[in-house]
This record gives sequence, structure tokens and C-alpha cells, in this order.
Amino acid sequence: VVRAEMFGQLTTGLEAAWNKLKGEEVLTKENIVEPMRDIRRALLEADVSLPVVRRFVQAVTDQAVGVGLIRGVRPDQQLVKIVNDELVKLMGGEVSELVFGKPGPTVILLAGLQGVGKTTVCAKLANYLKKQGKSCMLVAGDVYRPAAIEQLAILGKKVGVPVYTAGTDVKPSEIAKQGLEEAKKKKIDVVVVDTAGRLQIDKAMMDELKEVKRALNPTEVLLVVDAMTGQEAAALVTTFNLEIGITGAILTKLDGDSRGGAALSVKEVSGKPIKLVGRGERMEDLEPFYPDRMAGRILGMGDVLSFVEKAQEVMKQEDAEELQKKIMSAKFDFNDFLKQTRAVAQMGSVSRVIGMIPGMAKVTPAQIRDAEKNLKIMEAMIEAMTPEEREKPELLAESPVRRKRVAQDSGKTEQQVSQLVGQLFQMRVRMKNLMGVMESGSMPTLSN
Ligand code: GDP
Repeated sequence: VVRAEMFGQLTTGLEAAWNKLKGEEVLTKENIVEPMRDIRRALLEADVSLPVVRRFVQAVTDQAVGVGLIRGVRPDQQLVKIVNDELVKLMGGEVSELVFGKPGPTVILLAGLQGVGKTTVCAKLANYLKKQGKSCMLVAGDVYRPAAIEQLAILGKKVGVPVYTAGTDVKPSEIAKQGLEEAKKKKIDVVVVDTAGRLQIDKAMMDELKEVKRALNPTEVLLVVDAMTGQEAAALVTTFNLEIGITGAILTKLDGDSRGGAALSVKEVSGKPIKLVGRGERMEDLEPFYPDRMAGRILGMGDVLSFVEKAQEVMKQEDAEELQKKIMSAKFDFNDFLKQTRAVAQMGSVSRVIGMIPGMAKVTPAQIRDAEKNLKIMEAMIEAMTPEEREKPELLAESPVRRKRVAQDSGKTEQQVSQLVGQLFQMRVRMKNLMGVMESGSMPTLSN
């Protein structure tokens, strides 16, 4: 197994969690306590900020005890998968591509403190864009350090892109404007503008950045941060975003012995994605930030992940086939009903599911609470049914005595029980209709 050195400690810390579950048959509230403690410790040691760790651990715990075991998958393997998926989510889910404006040159403004690797990133970025077939120009906007201008010129030559310089006597916003004009004349695709960094955040730097930003109207404003600074990186991204408004971050020095905190926290803390990562001093060492690959690297358990995914697929398929058979034969019963409602619960709380559906975000918290309450009421009533009643809802439909008993045993009203029974029959009809539509859509028949 190839393991990223940079996350070595985190990987080892997480391993302790899986190991504690070896030999267990299911995931329970009890047996997950120790492993979750290991996960929490491993993340904190990787310098992930405490609120982020708390939310992460909560999300993993909720899922671990809410999810039924997938056939053939051991609890420790399932936990690996849950942690993986949450890590990917934590880091922003999808890869966040650079945005190219049009028409005219796309402007990428780079900001960052001194020594984080900003000048290096300028040249790496030019090299990266050149490989994508885009023409590129660098603009030297760091007027306080003649050495920085010199360095940019050297690196530009190295990767074969023009560098616009105007010495140290011109205002950065002016240099930026001139550089952009020059790029327009030369029909350059992308202009990357370097700016001055400071050892620490100060007002002069922020004011200057704001001015340069106003002058350029850039498509991307990227903050270059050093991965070695751990959760401080996430705090910096947040501050720069509030002050000047940025579109994302570039994380450098991931090849060093960074513990991972920066990569894990930036998106969650600042709301801004990491778009690119630098992992070396060579000009080729810049690449897009792939949350899924990064999670995979951290866990170092690619084979377990693909195994669990396959098992999930198989189970989904079997469940779907089973359900289809039942619907076709109108045998959809309360057990299926329960399975379905629990499947919804498995996806996380109703509010989270609703939050993921576009256009549903406007549902009020009160409505969500109602929906969740309804699920609980239904569950209570179904649990009060005998196995026979669950399989043959007709028994309840025909017998007020049975309905009364279910109502009493579940602490609900007879009316609620009647409603539930009615709902089940409605669902049967709706599903049959739906199947009819699907069938006639895919296989036109001569009858009807
Ligand atoms: P700036 O002050 O932000 O412009 O930083 P520089 O671009 O001058 O880089 C500072 C130092 O960090 C230089 O020695 C670079 O070679 C080094 N550096 C930059 N990016 C990386 C990286 O991804 N990995 C490693 N190992 N070193 C890097």
C-alpha cells in the first residue's frame, strides 16, 4: 500500500480505530465509542480545528449507528467507508476547477503571506496553464522586494512565459493595469498577477490587495497558503476572504511533513475551496486538489473502499429487485414501508436530505421537525403490529379491534392508525401506477 508520508501520522491514528472493531459483528452506540475517540484524537493531532473535528465525529457517529450493515462487509470496513465519505465531504466533495472568464484575458490574482511559496506558485501556475494549451503572462506586483521581481523573471524564463515588470516605483494597481493592457495586446489567455506578501496580515497589505483587485476585476483571487501552518491556514483563508473576497486557495508544501490539518479544514472553516496544491519545488509540482484522492491517501485503504462500494451496489440492486417484485404482486407491506422510511433516515436526518435537494432549501425548520416527528410516529405504530399484521395490512384494514390494539400499544390514536393503513394502500396503488407508466414507457403493448 502506497501511503502519503505527509499524512502518515493521521493514517496510523485512524488505523487504531478500525482495529478496535475487528471481531465485532455490528456497529453499535457502545462499540463505536472507542474507535470514535481514536478518530477524534487522530484529527486533533493532525491539527484540524476543534469545531471541525466535533462536527466530523458527530456526522460519522450518526451514520455509523444509523446504517444497517451491508451483507458481507465487516463493521470496521464499513466505518472506513463512512469516514472516507465524510472526509471527501469535508474537503468540499468535488474538485473545484479554475474558472476562465471570457472574452479577453482571464485574470488570476494571487495573494498570500511572505514565504508561503507565492512566487513559485506564479510560475508553476503558468507552467500548468501552458500545458493546457493556454498562453500565459506573469505580472510582477511585489514592488517592495526587488529580489521578488528578479525571482519571478527568472522563473518565468524557466517555464517560458513572458513576465511583465515595471520596477519598484510604480503602484501595484498601476503595474497590474499596465500588465493587463499588455496581455490584451498580445492576446494572452491568462494573466497571473503576483502581489506583495507580508510576514503577517496588516492593513496596508489588505488595502493594496483591494486596490489591485478593483483595478483588475479578476476572475480568480486565490490565496496561497502553506500547508505546514495547519489550522492557521484555514484561519488565514477566512480572514482574506472577509477582507478582500477570494475565490479559493492554493495549498503549498504538501510534500513536507504537514500533518493534514490545512487540507482538511480550509473548506469547512472558510467556505472557500482549495483549488490547487503544490507538492514540491519543481515547476511540475502543482496539481488540482481532488478531495476523493486526498481522502484515499489519508486512509490508505483503497481496496477496502472499492470492496464496500461494490457490496453496496449489489445490495441496492437486490433491494430494488425485491421491491419491484413485491410491487408487481401488490405485496408491498408494512415491513417494506418501514424499510423505506428507515432508508430515508439512513441518509442522515431529514433536514440534511432536504438540504441537498435543489429548490427544497426553503423548507422551514418547523416543517422538517414535523416530517421527522411523523416518521417516528409511523415507526411506533408499525412496531406495535404483529408480524402477521405487518405482512397482511388487510387484517388491519378489516378489523377495528386490531387497529385499536395497535393504537393503544403505540400510544397513538385509532385515527392515526387508520390513516397509516390508508397510506399504505394508497402507496400500493401509486406504485402500481408508476410501474404501469414505466412499463408502457419502455415496452409499448397492443392492449389498452
Ligand atoms: P513567497 O515569499 O511566497 O513568494 O515564497 P517563494 O515562492 O519565494 O517560496 C519560498 C520557499 O518555499 C522557496 O524556497 C520555495 O522553493 C519553497 N516552496 C514553494 N512551494 C513549495 C512546495 O510546494 N514544496 C516545497 N517543498 N517547497 C516549496
